[in-house]
Amino acid sequence: MISVEEALERILGQVDILNEEERPILDCLGQVLADDVYSDIDIPPLDNSAMDGYAVQSRDTRGASRKSPRFLRVIDTVVTGSIPKLELEPGTAMRIMTGAPIPKGADSVVRFEDTDEAQRKGHPNETGILVEVKPGKAIRRAGEDITRGSLVLNQGVTIRPPEVGVLASLGRSVVKVTRRPRVAILATGNELVDITQPLPTGKIYNSNTYSVAALVQRYGGIPKPLGIALDSEDSVVARLRQGLNADMLITTGGVSLGDYDVVKDVLAKQGKMDFWRVRVKPGKPLAFGMTKGHAQAGGVTSIPHFGLPGNPVSSMVTFEIFVRPAILKMMGKKNLTKPTIEAVIEEPIKNTDRRRVFARVVVEKRGGQYFAHPTGAQGSGILTSMTLANGLAIAPEDKPVVKKGDIVQVMMLDWNEE
Ligand code: AMP
Ligand code: MG
Repeated sequence: MISVEEALERILGQVDILNEEERPILDCLGQVLADDVYSDIDIPPLDNSAMDGYAVQSRDTRGASRKSPRFLRVIDTVVTGSIPKLELEPGTAMRIMTGAPIPKGADSVVRFEDTDEAQRKGHPNETGILVEVKPGKAIRRAGEDITRGSLVLNQGVTIRPPEVGVLASLGRSVVKVTRRPRVAILATGNELVDITQPLPTGKIYNSNTYSVAALVQRYGGIPKPLGIALDSEDSVVARLRQGLNADMLITTGGVSLGDYDVVKDVLAKQGKMDFWRVRVKPGKPLAFGMTKGHAQAGGVTSIPHFGLPGNPVSSMVTFEIFVRPAILKMMGKKNLTKPTIEAVIEEPIKNTDRRRVFARVVVEKRGGQYFAHPTGAQGSGILTSMTLANGLAIAPEDKPVVKKGDIVQVMMLDWNEE
């Protein structure tokens, strides 16, 4: 049996970053930029007004105050999206809207609130300036956000909503990113029934395909469900064949020591099994190896195969610990770990057989301190416990018990955003 670290190291040593593709920017959320992005425009393109107000020559405002306004002749209005036709002369002003280009001759903008605008009715041909302004007041300079020719986004950054916005501001509709892995998912078990079918006595619905597919999707991959295989080598091999053009294979179930646990044999025969037991709870039976696949472009590839345990909680927890980092690495990410916090554990966690325990907990912050409360029954078939938990408290393998009140590391599955 190998440690969590060793298992992760072996997995990450064998999965590779995928190739690049061009995608529409809105499809790229969470993907990693594969090229440096430069700008071929200035943003903003022209000096423009930061306020609704009057474009003026600042020296015309000298000495202006609420008691002693300076009156300027209004010669035009500049709206957004148009270029001012007139030039500003001393003693004149132009009404200007936020974002509209600064007319020639003007060096500052006085916002409406600092003029007598509110007292005037209709369209005045004069305005009273009530404050003194310095040159440059309320002007956004051309290129102050992005200058033409500059490097705007570095290769390797993850695309989040701000990056999507910046790309759009540059006029980029597509961008080169590291591809999302296509992940084939096969459930194994004679007892399983698809959720679209009636449930016969003695059978259970296949939930793993769905929880695992949802995890794949959440972390940026593209799930490709392969249905349900019976507990026979032939059935598993036949189904898996449909997934050999994927970038990763995940099977659930069939990796323990039972008479019908055939996934290990399939992995050993069809590919190269690396390990099948990890010192982790839940999830001791966890197989990993590389299998020969068919690249979409033709040719043979080597694709990682994760044989996750069948228990619904175990498959999800082992996914978070071992599969998620592999998916992120394939997508070109550098940070592969979930956020981890320190919390006071509110109930003891027992550790009976020197495995590292990942206990489902609810983490709450009280008085500036995190507290972790186990979700109750920790059986690995109790899938509803995963709906309650927002973290996994980690009990080290060398400690028989983590006592109530001890500080534990908690791998956060979710921060409470919703
Ligand atoms: P196994 O690892 O195949 O021995 O399965 C362990 C437990 O998980 C058994 O109780 C199975 O019925 C259950 N199980 C296996 N696969 C699934 C699945 N796809 N959906 C729901 N439960 C499953
Ligand atoms: Mg089974």
